[in-house]
Amino acid sequence: MICSTCGTYFPAASAPRLCTICNEERQYIPEGGQSWTNPGELHNKHKITIHQLKEHLYELEITPQFAIGQRALLVLSQNGNVLWDCIPMLDKATIDFIQSKGGLKAIAFSHPHYYSNMNDWADMFDCPVYIHENDAPYIVQKGPEIKLWQGEELTLWDGIKIMLIGGHFEGSSILHVPFLSKEGAIMCGDTLFLSPSKKHFSVMRSYPNKIPLPLREIRRIKHRMSEISFDTFYGYVKAQNLDADVKEIFENSMERYLAE
Ligand SMILES: [Zn+2]
Ligand SMILES: [Zn+2]
Repeated sequence: MICSTCGTYFPAASAPRLCTICNEERQYIPEGGQSWTNPGELHNKHKITIHQLKEHLYELEITPQFAIGQRALLVLSQNGNVLWDCIPMLDKATIDFIQSKGGLKAIAFSHPHYYSNMNDWADMFDCPVYIHENDAPYIVQKGPEIKLWQGEELTLWDGIKIMLIGGHFEGSSILHVPFLSKEGAIMCGDTLFLSPSKKHFSVMRSYPNKIPLPLREIRRIKHRMSEISFDTFYGYVKAQNLDADVKEIFENSMERYLAE
């Protein structure tokens, strides 16, 4: 069973009455009540579209939009490809496309809102799924490929790193890919949230419920990001791409939180 609001898959035999990911203060159960769908229905009504963003970067999304409209990012790299976050669907055309690019060496996650059908993806591509141990309590089905990582960062290969930022979730992380741009690209899910104006970043405990983070967390995240080199940002949906003045916009945004 698939939660229609967030896209998390639950085993039919043990599905809760309410989705445990949505029924938590950072998400919500819609006013009309919990609704569920299933893979067959999803495949009848939706398809996966793949766009190339850069020479070594593709985005995958479900059209028409499903769940929270999330995208996954496919990073092609010499020593193995990485899928950043998941979309809650997988079809033959997508499998063939990814296989034609060399398959996947790892799947890595920003946070629990995108776990969806991660075990299906991991089984299909026979690769590990990296999740920060701080978010382990939110894993609905702990398949054999799930590897919990610890500490501040995990280096994969070709300079690609998963970095713990925290804030939105205790394990909220970003993927740093040094070779996509001069100073490096960061893929953030909604660890950082780029506004539609593309002139402001928010960092919140909950975006839909507008729950702020304590100022000490904003200060910590501002400092943490100041230690990371980047000039390109990719957020959780396709409109959230930015490759000009990214660091400056981020720093100015954090200053707004901290202004007396
Ligand atoms: Zn849900
Ligand atoms: Zn989220």
